[in-house]
Amino acid sequence: TSFPVIRHSQLIRLIKRNHLDLDEVDELKQAVNFLHESGVLLHYNETTLQMRDFYFIDPGWLCRMMAQVVTVPEINPFIDRNGVMKRSSVQMLFTGKETSGQSNFIFPSSLIPQYLHMLEKFEIALPRNEEELLIPCRLPSRKPNIEMPVQDQAELVVRCYVMPNTPIGFWSRLLTRLIVFSESKFAQNMLVLQDKPQIQFWKEGIFVKWSQTAFFLVDSYRGHHDEIHLTVSNTAHGCRLMGYLVDHVDSLVDEWYPGLTTIDPMLGRELLEKFVPCTLCQGPQPYNFRFEDLLKASENQTEIFCPEHHGNVDLIKLAPDVMLADVEPQFHIDLDQFDFEESPENLCGDGGFGAVYKAMYRGKVVAVKVFTSIGDLHPHKMLRQEATILRRLEHPSVCPCWSISSTSPTGCHRVCSKQISWRCVQIWSTPEPDSAA
Ligand SMILES: [Zn+2]
Repeated sequence: TSFPVIRHSQLIRLIKRNHLDLDEVDELKQAVNFLHESGVLLHYNETTLQMRDFYFIDPGWLCRMMAQVVTVPEINPFIDRNGVMKRSSVQMLFTGKETSGQSNFIFPSSLIPQYLHMLEKFEIALPRNEEELLIPCRLPSRKPNIEMPVQDQAELVVRCYVMPNTPIGFWSRLLTRLIVFSESKFAQNMLVLQDKPQIQFWKEGIFVKWSQTAFFLVDSYRGHHDEIHLTVSNTAHGCRLMGYLVDHVDSLVDEWYPGLTTIDPMLGRELLEKFVPCTLCQGPQPYNFRFEDLLKASENQTEIFCPEHHGNVDLIKLAPDVMLADVEPQFHIDLDQFDFEESPENLCGDGGFGAVYKAMYRGKVVAVKVFTSIGDLHPHKMLRQEATILRRLEHPSVCPCWSISSTSPTGCHRVCSKQISWRCVQIWSTPEPDSAA
């Protein structure tokens, strides 16, 4: 059987045979780009797709091949009611069964891995694990009945992301990440739990439960705006899960939808807003704190006043991630053991994100990184990003992270300090500093 696909070497032969005066690198690339954009042929140059070698000279054929996954159940009966399909079933789709007179559904089986990459690129099917694929458009659209282990609002921590519209592909990307995370060894270690979780997911939400205190719910609400709500319990497990969830949603937005966090010229603020409902307000409409206000308050206080119920609320109950309550106890700073002065003679280096100072901690010379605001960007975000990676990293070339704190021992303004061993900072200050420094 021949397929309407040619390889790079064949294309070069065609060019030679027809005496086309094309330079094989730049001009050919431009010509292919032009043909790709005008829909004459399709060529995907991304390294991750591993499809650079292939030119699809019948775009309609490729579309039909991809549609084969999401077609009627008579053709693809391999998707279960949760929207999950076995990878091994993909081959069964291309048995040559015909749906109309001319479309012959045979696909080269040697190209199935590339086919799966392609489905992933167009978000028709996303990898769930080694054996299974998630088919986003076949996820159940109705939220199932969920038994929340905790009912009382005061024992929950909620974070709301509000935006004008949820971007395309947002939920399927978020769901796959959260499913992979929930089933991972990493989650087990983080929560210090041995049990496999119970997982329920639907088109715009997921509920994962390990125990009565270790669970999370991420789901959507549609009103004037689209909202995403993250809900956990206000226990040690819940704090860690909230820290993980917000880091995940934030990195998803940064990687795929950076437009959501740029300043909108009409609104004068970011399109994406974050709120935290008051946990102590009684009644169905609790006061919504702006996340930025909680960040600001965390610089010099541990409580914030709620104008709705006229009382103070602990910041740690509202936003454990801001107070770094999800950070493991061994990273909590011991201020009695910390001798630090933010002075020019202790300054080792200065950069866009902050400054590095020499200090003493637990009798050892350490480096302290103090994050500062860049424009509207609060140092909290950078601190979290770096802390998330560094505290799990153990490598001879990377300074071990000793402690993380969001408050300054000097008390004059907010600093986020992180101690790293002194020898590594000396390596950093060589004439060719590592870019990570
Ligand atoms: Zn309140």
